[in-house]
Formats: sequence, structure tokens, C-alpha cells
Amino acid sequence: MIPNMHYADLKDSYLFYHIAQKTQAYRKAHPGTHLYRMGIGDVSLPLCDAVIRALHEAVDDQAKQDTFHGYMPECGAPFLREAIADHYQKRGVSLSSEEVFVSSGASDELGDLLDLFDRGGSALVIEPAYPAYVDANVMAGRRVVHLAAGEANGFLPGPDDSMEADIIYLCSPNNPTGAAFSRMQLQDWVAYANRKGAVILFDAAYEAFIEEADLPHSIFEIEGARTCAIEICSLSKTAGFTGTRLGYTIIPKELERGGLNLNAMWVRNRTTKTNGVSYIIQKGGAAVFTSEGQKQIQKTIGVYKRNAKVLMEALDQLGIWYCGGKNAPYIWMRCPNGMDSWAFFDYLLQEIQVVGTPGEGFGACGEGYFRFSTFGSPDDTREAARRLCALLRTV
Ligand code: PLP
Repeated sequence: MIPNMHYADLKDSYLFYHIAQKTQAYRKAHPGTHLYRMGIGDVSLPLCDAVIRALHEAVDDQAKQDTFHGYMPECGAPFLREAIADHYQKRGVSLSSEEVFVSSGASDELGDLLDLFDRGGSALVIEPAYPAYVDANVMAGRRVVHLAAGEANGFLPGPDDSMEADIIYLCSPNNPTGAAFSRMQLQDWVAYANRKGAVILFDAAYEAFIEEADLPHSIFEIEGARTCAIEICSLSKTAGFTGTRLGYTIIPKELERGGLNLNAMWVRNRTTKTNGVSYIIQKGGAAVFTSEGQKQIQKTIGVYKRNAKVLMEALDQLGIWYCGGKNAPYIWMRCPNGMDSWAFFDYLLQEIQVVGTPGEGFGACGEGYFRFSTFGSPDDTREAARRLCALLRTV
């Protein structure tokens, strides 16, 4: 047997493992000390009432002969596909429900979607980046083209015509930088993708955190996107589904490459490789798109946004450069005094017991930066911000 030798090309994914080891060692040396966890990418607040009620009702449906559901349609239950298409329509984006595919989360989709593309192709990844983009391509034996982002372009680089790739990953609002592309910047990427015959994989996992009215939530708000883009979204951060698992993917019917239709290819893929997402979970997900659900998730997102504000105020007081926080649950700050990102991690842990995420873990050009998540508890966030101010004022 010959294994997939491309796994040998993967870099060790040591970021969160290394963080866990360092915090464990600190706890062992300082028993009973409270740590302020500003590194987590997981949500901390529970599912909203509308979702919980829908989940309970769906469980009861499964107990009765006349409402019981067995296998669900592979591409998603019509009630959820329609609810998502209606949600887009309210924001001015017209989709047919057949362009919406229900998934069990964005991570799963980001890997699975590579089935649509030739293995000899390449993927352009803007770094610093969510690590799954690079790793999923390496596992599939695909070449990765790295495009470095930096402060000069607000961590939002534009396309470069000299670069060639057949898939382009865009994540907006971004993990880890929290930066969000403007309409004009996305227009440039869409024009580039159409010109080159490339396909944009637009990761909209954090769209619900956008608060500036003129920023696009979906790539399909941009003219020309229907011939060059796929959108991957998730209810994980939008509605607290990290453990419940639900997402969706939009593939327009106009999207064709090499004489093949990508929407039809994905239908073929799903009907072969999945038996659909659980009825119960899809019912819970549909509740997110009701007006009651939307109000309730905004309330929860508001808690994380207040956390972001507290941290941003601390960095403003300290005069430290950062981006994100406003339209995303992440704040990306420059480490003070040219410290490298792991040195800054150790410094915060040792001096003020605050745990964040070193930027270097998201790609080489993340070195010298640090990510704070705003998903922690408000009390811990306030105290972490107070400690940061007291410590860094003296650096
Ligand atoms: N995309 C980005 C940018 C993320 O940050 C995450 C999770 O942190 C995901 C996708 C994965 O989301 P899901 O929980 O739906 O798999």
C-alpha cells in the first residue's frame, strides 16, 4: 500500500498544541492562578432560545411516526435551503435555493470542495491565514502560492496580475487579522478571477460581525461574482453552532470551468459522499434565519462586540497599532518594541496571566503580531484589558 505521500509535506501544526503546553506548564508552576484566555476561537455563550426551541421540537418530531425523518436530502433540507436563500434576498442578493448547499460546517467544506479542482492546480492563500487553507491543499497535493499581507495594505492585499493560481482564498472579515475587504477591493479580486479563469473560495464565516454598513457580507453583492466565486459560510460564530455543527455553501449555477458546471458537479459530489445533515440540526439552523432568531443572535454577537470595544480602547490608550475588532471577533495587534510573537506570548502569560495567540502561527508574515479573540467572558476581557494597560504602559 502506498499512502498519500503529500501528508509528509505538511508542516507540524503546533500552534494550539504549543499554546496548551505553555499554559499547562504555567499552571503547574503556579497552581490556582486564574488565566485570562483571550486566545480562543470558540464561542462561550449558549445557543439562543429560538434555536433551542426548534431543536426540542425537532427531537419530538423524530418520536412520532407521521413527523419522523430518516435520511435527509444530500444537498440540504428544502426548508433550510429556502430560508438561507430568503435571508440573502433580504440583503439584496438573489439566489435560487438550489444554489445553497447545507453542510456540517465550514472546515469540512473547505477540505471537501477541493474535489472540484484538478490536483495539479494551485491555490493562492493570503497570509496570515486560517491554517486549513494551506493544509487542505497540501494534503491534496496541490501547490500553494503565498501572498503576504501587511500593515502597508491594512492586511488586505489586492490581486497581482503576475500571480497565477486556479483557486483564490479570500476570508473577509478575516481570521486572524479581523480586517474586512471593502466593496471596491472585492471588485478588484472578482475582476482578476474572471480575467484569469480562477475561482474564489470566499470564506464568510465572520460576516455576521460586520457593523460598517458599506462593507459587503457576501461576495455575491459584487457584480461578476456569479461567474467566479463560491461562498462558504458557517453558523459556528454567527449563532454559536461550533459544537452543534452547521454551515452552508453557495455555488451559483453560472459557475463553469472547462465546460463543466460546478453547481452540478457539487450535487454529484454530495449525492455520492454524504447522506445529508441531521434533520434536528437543520431545524435548529432554520430558526437562526427567523426574525426572532436574528434578533437573538445579534444580542449574543453584541456581547462579543463589547469585549472587542474594551480591548480596542486599551490598545488605543497604549497607542499600539492594531486592526480588526470592529467588524470581526479578532483583534490583530503589533507586538510592542519589536518583540517576536512567541516572546510576547510568554511575556503576557508570565507577567499578567493573559493568553493570546502568536501571529507567527498563521504564517511567516504574522511574525511580530498577536491575535486577541473577543469570544471570552466579559469579566475576564475587562480584567485582561486592565492588566494589558498597566503592563504595557511601562514597556
Ligand atoms: N473559516 C474560518 C476563517 C474560521 O476561523 C473557522 C473556525 O474558526 C472556520 C472556517 C471553521 O468553521 P466551522 O466551525 O464551521 O467548521
